This record gives sequence, structure tokens and C-alpha cells, in this order.
Amino acid sequence: MDCLFCKIAQETVPASIIYKDDEFVVFKDINPKAPIHILIIPRKHIVSINHLEAEDESLIGKMFLTAKKIAKKLEIDEKGYKLVFNVGRGGGQIIDHLHLHLLAGWKNSTERNVPGMP
Ligand code: AMP
Ligand code: ZN
Repeated sequence: MDCLFCKIAQETVPASIIYKDDEFVVFKDINPKAPIHILIIPRKHIVSINHLEAEDESLIGKMFLTAKKIAKKLEIDEKGYKLVFNVGRGGGQIIDHLHLHLLAGWKNSTERNVPGMP
């Protein structure tokens, strides 16, 4: 399948990977919209939130727990961060492989207002 994020998960396309396990790969966004911009992806190819099936219930739960773990690892858990799923073109999704954006590191609330991100 010709999917960029599948290739990153398989490590056939390079990325700045900061964490990986059996189910997820976590790497730095190539075009960061915040001082810290991380993407959390499942190894399983799922197009978007719209394409989740009942069997993915535990995967999506673990995706949030992975985000929590990464936030702690990056020491942004206390200060705070945003978690964002873009869904479909109207929601700003350009890569059709499920990914959770983790955004953080702003100095103040003005800097936090990122065009294209909530
Ligand atoms: P979305 O708009 O929700 O589909 O987000 C896709 C994200 O993937 C964007 O923030 C891109 O900057 C990011 N991105 C695209 N290609 C790469 C890549 N090769 N490595 C890391 N991040 C990427
Ligand atoms: Zn994929």
C-alpha cells in the first residue's frame, strides 16, 4: 500500500522517531505548527476516525495512553498540551493514515493560536 505513514511505521521512510512499540510509532512532525509537534500513529493502517471499527476500541484507547506517556516523557504533562485528530479534507486531514497530533511548548496564549489548528 502506498501510504507514507505506513512506510514511516515500517521505517522504510525516515522520520525523527521518539518512541515505538508493537502497536504505535511516535515521531516529530516535519512541518511543526507548535514548538513541540509530535504525531502518534498506529502501525495498523486505518484511514481516519471515520474508519474506526468496533475491533479498534482498545487501539484508540491505547493511542491516548501513548499520548499521555509521551507528554510525561517530554515533560510537558504539567504545563499542558493539545491533542488533535483532523478528520477528512474538511477537517484538515491530508495524510490518510490515522494520526494524533500532540502540540505543546507555547510561551503564551497568543502564540498558542495556530492557524489550521484548534
Ligand atoms: P493532517 O493535516 O492531520 O493530515 O496532518 C498531517 C501531518 O503530517 C502534517 O502536520 C504534516 O506536516 C505531517 N507530515 C507530512 N509528511 C511528514 C513526514 N514525512 N514526516 C513527518 N511528518 C509529516
Ligand atoms: Zn498507512
